[in-house]
Amino acid sequence: MVISCAATLCYNFFFLPPVGTLTIQDPQNWLALMAFLATAIVGSRLSERARDEAADARTRQHELEVLYTLGRELLQSENVATLLNTLPLATLRASHASFAVLYLLDGDRIYRSGKPNELPPDLTTLRQLALTLPSADCSAEAEAQVPIRAGVRPRGLLILRGVRFSRETLEAIAGLVSVSIDRTQALEEVARVQAAKESERLRTLMMDSIAHELKTPLTGIKGSVTTLLSSNSITEEDRRELLTVINEEVDRLNHLVTQAVEMAQLDAQEVHMTFRPERLTDLIDDAIEASAGTLDGHRVEIKLPPELPPVRADRSFIAKVLSNLLENAAKYSGPGSPIFVSAEQRSGVVAISVADRGIGIDAAEQPLIFDRFYRVRSQSHYTSGTGMGLSISRAILEAHHGDITVTSQPGQGSVFTFTLPIAEK
Ligand code: ADP
Repeated sequence: MVISCAATLCYNFFFLPPVGTLTIQDPQNWLALMAFLATAIVGSRLSERARDEAADARTRQHELEVLYTLGRELLQSENVATLLNTLPLATLRASHASFAVLYLLDGDRIYRSGKPNELPPDLTTLRQLALTLPSADCSAEAEAQVPIRAGVRPRGLLILRGVRFSRETLEAIAGLVSVSIDRTQALEEVARVQAAKESERLRTLMMDSIAHELKTPLTGIKGSVTTLLSSNSITEEDRRELLTVINEEVDRLNHLVTQAVEMAQLDAQEVHMTFRPERLTDLIDDAIEASAGTLDGHRVEIKLPPELPPVRADRSFIAKVLSNLLENAAKYSGPGSPIFVSAEQRSGVVAISVADRGIGIDAAEQPLIFDRFYRVRSQSHYTSGTGMGLSISRAILEAHHGDITVTSQPGQGSVFTFTLPIAEK
């Protein structure tokens, strides 16, 4: 307005005759002067409004950016404790506030972030505000207080210092905070229910598998012992045979219990592995020695390239993996058929394969045999086993940063291949 009047006076002074004075002689010039003044005032009003609208739009854009950034940060947390601990910092970062406090009525908990010398209000004030504040209060210059609700129920309070936001934006921030807490609580609940279901399922499977596998050797032992005790006229040869049965069944029981304990320890991450550079030939020798009793006359043919680098492995655990593969190859193939062990170097790893010419595994079941307690349906009645061996092997190899795969064709045979990292020099 002031500038418009000043411009009108200048126009009069410099351009309207008599030039150089503020007087006007010709009445027509009065008209020109008034038209000039009106245009100047309307023009300035319009540009002022445009400026205000641009400033409003910038503020709204900034507030939207704050909400977007905060929403994105809050949606990344998967558990409540992490979310609550990072929430004030996330709010601070998104809003550029100097201090943020999150107070939750549940447990009178306070989470804060920002300048260390700033203090939140005392607990009684926080509780009072959380329970009574009807909506966001942004009247104070230095501090905005926003109630947080779960539905209509008061849940807590958010305090932001050093920023100015509209009431709507503050309410939206409180909404985001509340929704993100609800979301992580729901995620945790779902995970808990799933874990409980999975553990129940595994317990049932374990009980079924172990009970079934315990029964057979126990029946064998009981039968042999009863015969030994009840019969006086037993020949030395029969006695030896019965004792051999008992010995084998006790070995079976021992194997079963060892596997169950190993699996529980691997689950609880209670096993300690010592990784050292090992020569593959040593690992294979250990495994063949350990499974000598169960290979049942199957010939093991080993074919290794001459310059194989040492692998990074825990010797006894990898020997167990190899024994399990050798024993399976013997168990699931015809009497006397050969078993082949080979290896090759690939990028950064050595891949070791155990192949047999046995009954093979159907393509649909191949991915499942590494699951705990899974046994191929068509064989589970004919051969003894627990379905634990391959899942233990996979857990051991994962601890070595290796993996295990199978390729197989029913009636032709199977090739199990696992990898181990090459030991660093
Ligand atoms: P188990 O042999 O005690 O049943 P594993 O975990 O070692 O348990 O093997 C899981 C299942 O995978 C076995 O029950 C068997 O059906 C199948 N399997 C494993 N190795 C072979 C193999 N070499 N040939 C055919 N089937 C196999």
